[in-house]
Amino acid sequence: MTSWTSPPSSSAERGAPAPPGPGPAGAPTRPAPAGPGLVWRPAPPGPPVAAGAPPAARPAPPGPPVAAARPSTAAGSGAGPAGPDAGLGWPPVLVAEDLLGQGVVAAFSSRAGGLGRPPYQSLNLGLRVGDEVRTALANRRRLANVLGLAGLPWATVRQVHSATAVTAARDQLGHGPPEAKPALAEADALVTAEAGLVLVVLTADCVPVLLVDPAGRVTAAVHAGWRGLAAGVVEAAAAGFAGAGGDPAGACAVALIGPAIGPCCYEVGPEVRDAVAARYPVAAATTRAGRPSLDLAAAVAEALRRSGFERVQTAGECTLDHPDRFFSYRREGTTGRQAGLVALTPAGTP
Ligand SMILES: [Zn+2]
Repeated sequence: MTSWTSPPSSSAERGAPAPPGPGPAGAPTRPAPAGPGLVWRPAPPGPPVAAGAPPAARPAPPGPPVAAARPSTAAGSGAGPAGPDAGLGWPPVLVAEDLLGQGVVAAFSSRAGGLGRPPYQSLNLGLRVGDEVRTALANRRRLANVLGLAGLPWATVRQVHSATAVTAARDQLGHGPPEAKPALAEADALVTAEAGLVLVVLTADCVPVLLVDPAGRVTAAVHAGWRGLAAGVVEAAAAGFAGAGGDPAGACAVALIGPAIGPCCYEVGPEVRDAVAARYPVAAATTRAGRPSLDLAAAVAEALRRSGFERVQTAGECTLDHPDRFFSYRREGTTGRQAGLVALTPAGTP
């Protein structure tokens, strides 16, 4: 297995031109809101939100919202509205709709539409958070079904807030059902050029990041919290992505920044803020209440730009602010995990 790491002071950054974007000190640039490609399907979970939020998507189609929108690769088995959990509806997903036609499924899950009971209600996907494993695996199958990825193996890592990225290959995944393969390694990013493999990172406030080069047929998934960011996990993932043949500046290449705790809520001590801001000054922020905070998504966006990504789409939703929509470790402590998932579909570009 190939792995990449990025030391705290990455040589890749020395001598690099000044990154675009960040405003003057004290006026951190907020990430751009969700672009047209990253949309909730079939509709945003939770109660209606205030004006200024993204408009509600169109009503749910009769079938799975994503699988129905692309050439089907689904085996069609397992949990779903026709099964024992009939009546739950399909789990809503925040999906990069414009990638579906390019043979790539890239999406972020919410906490809605699953089977779990408090404090894991309802679509917990984590197997090590205290929830019943059987329930979490059923939730994984529900999510795979809705994304048209039923039956494809999940590649995960034991996330340890490192700056280590590893390659994932089907023949390394070991035994077990597709959604219950053993973790590949201790790492915080996965890279693959293989179709038919679902790269998954699990979060509950940290930033899930997905890298996609549809033309080069390379994907990556990254788990980025403050420790990983300070250590360079995004750059390590980008190095692995490029090493596998991905072109971050390719015409269709895109990086997706999923839902995470926002600068509005992520109050931190000065040592934590300094550790990240030393690398990404744009990350220094203040909460709504005026306390020192971190803008993790802005730090990720800056790391991506430094790594050559020209298209970066940000969900722009704060996990702590949306208890009906997302798990938040900071808000709840004992809670579930949502996911960022990306897969090159076996059929390829239609
Ligand atoms: Zn917030």
